Amino acid sequence: MSSEYASCVFCGEFVLHIPGWASDVPSYRLMRATWQEEHAFVVGSLHFSCLRASPAREEFAAEFAGIATGHGREITFQAAGGTQTLVQPGLGYVEEIFRGDECAVHRSDTRDSWLVQEHAGPWYVLDRPQMEAIAQGKPPRLDPGVERIVLPGEPMADLADATLTELLDGLGVTDRYPGLAAGEPEYEFWKYFAPKRVLEYAVIATPPLPTEAAAFLRDYAPGYQPIDFDALEGDELRG
Ligand SMILES: [Zn+2]
Repeated sequence: MSSEYASCVFCGEFVLHIPGWASDVPSYRLMRATWQEEHAFVVGSLHFSCLRASPAREEFAAEFAGIATGHGREITFQAAGGTQTLVQPGLGYVEEIFRGDECAVHRSDTRDSWLVQEHAGPWYVLDRPQMEAIAQGKPPRLDPGVERIVLPGEPMADLADATLTELLDGLGVTDRYPGLAAGEPEYEFWKYFAPKRVLEYAVIATPPLPTEAAAFLRDYAPGYQPIDFDALEGDELRG
């Protein structure tokens, strides 16, 4: 697998990062590929559709949830002929506020952030702007900002004018983004550096939250209390 460009850890095809349809697992997360015989680590990009379709989705989801809903934990594994110990960082989404047939919703205990995770693996981070949008009956738009990515080959000639649909078609990965139109993606071409095939672009989209999560959040969002950091400290002192 090439490390030169973002290829999916499941299908090996190019991953264009689109919020709600693809993501990545950075190496510092120390996420174990618990479904592999010799516990390897998961590092790299993935299409959420590939994760959902993978036989390893439950193990992936469990390992991801273990990281996401904690404050870090010690892990041990066999490597280099011995037992290695590492501290796997946590994401701090410790408070479960919803669990349904398809997904769970956890809230961070240190910042105004929520994690919706499908039992099949894919996850969506909602921060305060998204929760405020939901409270106002608007879609929770995700705006990760400008992405830089190395294209796997020479792009189409009119890259600067291409729509997102044309770009995905040109890259041959349209089928990895099922239901994307419903997320009303707003794609913006920024720049292309031809010598290194680096594309700069931005996509804003509404994540495909499971219906049960969307319904829960519609009820929850208008009444949520933002984290009060002064009170948080006091609560910790009071235990
Ligand atoms: Zn894939």
